[in-house]
Amino acid sequence: MAAKIFYDKDCDLSLIRAKKVAIIGYGSQGHAHALNLKDSAVDVCVGLPATSKSVAKAKAAGLRVVAVPEAAAWADVMMVLVPDTTQAKLYKTEIEPHLEPGKTLMFAHGFNIRFGTIKPRADVDVSMIAPKGPGHRVRETYQEGNGVPALIAVHQDATGKAHAQALSYAMGIGAARAGVLETTFAEETETDLFGEQAVLCGGTSALVKAAFDTLVKAGYQPEVAYFECLHELKLIVDLMYRGGLNYMRYSISDTAEYGDYTAGPRIVDNHTRETMGKLLSEIQDGTFAKKWIEENETGRKSFKAMRVQERDQLIEKVGAKLRAMMPFLNPVTVDPTE
Ligand code: NAD
Ligand code: MG
Repeated sequence: MAAKIFYDKDCDLSLIRAKKVAIIGYGSQGHAHALNLKDSAVDVCVGLPATSKSVAKAKAAGLRVVAVPEAAAWADVMMVLVPDTTQAKLYKTEIEPHLEPGKTLMFAHGFNIRFGTIKPRADVDVSMIAPKGPGHRVRETYQEGNGVPALIAVHQDATGKAHAQALSYAMGIGAARAGVLETTFAEETETDLFGEQAVLCGGTSALVKAAFDTLVKAGYQPEVAYFECLHELKLIVDLMYRGGLNYMRYSISDTAEYGDYTAGPRIVDNHTRETMGKLLSEIQDGTFAKKWIEENETGRKSFKAMRVQERDQLIEKVGAKLRAMMPFLNPVTVDPTE
């Protein structure tokens, strides 16, 4: 069965324009949602703690900023865009007390609903619009007249209008210009976690590191290894992004294509596929979520230790030096203490 995809023509912007919308949080997604909705003539305010560094930024952008409980009390629709690991506590203390029957609670990722750390009362709508791209792209594409595609899901439909209203919200942030794909909280959460673990973050980082280490250990120059195993990855991914694996393979040399077919299945073999299956089971049965929630409740000790260790490796040192020589890349460095 083909996925159901909605576009601007399927949405009614007047629904969200008739509501008071609070964007809770003003980070990557929050600033983009708030500004796009404002430009779509939606009545929007931003909810932030008075001490947040983002207050000044949001005000400077012309937005109304109030404390989270005040925003929750004022709004008909609340979009929760604080980090997933702080949502449950914020919800309990500052949002839930102001969540009256018929209001709408929205998310851009299903983690807390899927794993039960947020359990909204039954008489509110609970929906999701999850842009499939970083917040700054959600803002930039909107300003260019385009949008970032998004997923839509409805967890609770108390009013009978949850789906139409979520679509209206999607149109307000520009996502329906690119396509809004129907899913569920479970599918979005499980596939999102699996994708970032198996391919986008975990799989890719480990592959790059292992290949770099193999070349360096064999005596090749780290600088050459960096270009081969990390830098060029973008060029290959750009081809895949535009035309799939077929276009990437059409563009590379026949030698590279032959190596692709013969070596690829030896690198990602049955053992790797089995491990992917295990990762997916641990996501589905809540094992991963439980560990990550515990990690957050106990001061993130092992998370912080892994972060420090990963930042202090040869490929990062070599890369920083080489990127500094390529200003056209617009290189950035991460503060090691952050
Ligand atoms: P972020 O870390 O960029 O921003 C978080 C914001 O929340 C900041 O403005 C911070 O000041 C504020 N904040 C933190 N604690 C708060 C509190 N207790 N009360 C009020 N505000 C608080 O977060 P993000 O990456 O935009 O993620 C927000 C949501 O969007 C998450 O559910 C995430 O999974 C989802 N999402 C993110 C992306 C992305 O590209 N970043 C993409 C799709 C979905
Ligand atoms: Mg994702």
